[in-house]
Amino acid sequence: MKIAMIGTGYVGLVSGVCFSDFGHEVVCVDRLADKIAKLERGEVPIYEPGLDSVMIRNTQAGRLSFTTDLAAAVDGADAVFIAVGTPTRRGDGHADLAYVMAAAEDIANALTGYAVIVTKSTVPVGTNRKVAEVIRKTRPDAEFDVASNPEFLREGAALDDFMKPDRVVVGVESDRAREVMGDIYRPLFLRDFPIVYTDLESAEMIKYAANAFLATKITFINEIAALCERVGADVKSVSKGMGLDGRIGGKFLHAGPGYGGSCFPKDTSALARIGQEHGVPQRITEAVIGVNDAVKRRMIEKVLDLCGGSVNGKVMVVLGVTFKPNTDDMRDAPALTIVPALVGGGATVRVVDPQGRREGEALLPGVSWETDVYAAAQDADALVMLTEWNEFRALDLAQLAGVMATPRLADLRNVYDREDALAAGFTEFVAVGR
Ligand code: NAD
Repeated sequence: MKIAMIGTGYVGLVSGVCFSDFGHEVVCVDRLADKIAKLERGEVPIYEPGLDSVMIRNTQAGRLSFTTDLAAAVDGADAVFIAVGTPTRRGDGHADLAYVMAAAEDIANALTGYAVIVTKSTVPVGTNRKVAEVIRKTRPDAEFDVASNPEFLREGAALDDFMKPDRVVVGVESDRAREVMGDIYRPLFLRDFPIVYTDLESAEMIKYAANAFLATKITFINEIAALCERVGADVKSVSKGMGLDGRIGGKFLHAGPGYGGSCFPKDTSALARIGQEHGVPQRITEAVIGVNDAVKRRMIEKVLDLCGGSVNGKVMVVLGVTFKPNTDDMRDAPALTIVPALVGGGATVRVVDPQGRREGEALLPGVSWETDVYAAAQDADALVMLTEWNEFRALDLAQLAGVMATPRLADLRNVYDREDALAAGFTEFVAVGR
């Protein structure tokens, strides 16, 4: 199959690379000339483990290329994927569809024969029909179908998620489009990964419902964690005891500083708006959004309490600022709420993050960036674990406590045990829900 991938971000690049690895001929398009130039040089503009080698293998095999020329990529394509951003629209919380609609118009102008226009971006119910309308209006002569193919990959594990998905969801309305989508994903069906064919509206809804459900699960355990602290329970045991129930499952049941990232905040907000607009308020999702904001604020209180009520004049070392490990993505990371509160409270903040600096520098003014945890901890007053990168999971706590001015640890990811921290020389320790 010949595929054009419009938008070469976290989703478009991974999808394009993986489709080319299936054997398809893929052209990835982006309007950022810098990004395309980097990709053409074989450089991956994001941090995603394993992506570079698969990308280079397929560009060298001649199956994968990059361009800013959308029309050239669309010319003769069997399928054109829209994988552009759908961020929260300023002011009203809706998904901003400006990029999707602009791409649809550009695609319409470039169509040269029958193609399936596939929306991979996360879009509100009804968007695929709007995409079809825009194309029909722009090019009444165009021969095309639309398909909805929401993406479920997780940053940090994106290649594996794409190559071994729990399921592929495809919303289509014609046999012809279904056949094209079947051909594209055939390498996965051969390995028995399930595909859910459905209508456009259901496919669009599946993505929002899935993300809102996962955000709810995280938020539920975060709220339980606050209660655990009050009643003397340990949320780690509670999660384990709950998660072993097959009906519940242990994933997304780890208490922490609140969810962030490029998807959950914007998708829960969009779902709440979709519900309001249709007169069916999504009260659970609305509550989740409010509780998650409160969770992040509660983390600030925790750190202040650890430092005796104020961080003014204190040296704080923040471990991890990306929204989760194994990504450089800072979008809506809890660090963007918590770190500025520390800086604003008068603290000197040193940040250590294996990949966060490139994005984080502009987003976190007033902090210094360090590469070594032990050097950063020299004469510091507190360590705050915000993102549990692997290299932060087995720190030498005694060495850290030894170099700090006042050895305090706020472990907002529940990596360490209080007894171990105190035995290593930390004088103050706080975790989440324990
Ligand atoms: P992103 O911001 O990383 O990438 C979007 C890219 O599209 C950018 O490089 C931008 O320059 C490009 N672009 C925008 N308009 C364009 C146009 N008209 N022509 C060519 N290029 C254009 O976004 P992302 O994180 O990859 O997300 C894309 C979509 O996938 C969103 O709807 C998101 O909700 C969804 N999604 C994201 C993830 C994730 O983990 N990031 C997972 C599942 C679904």
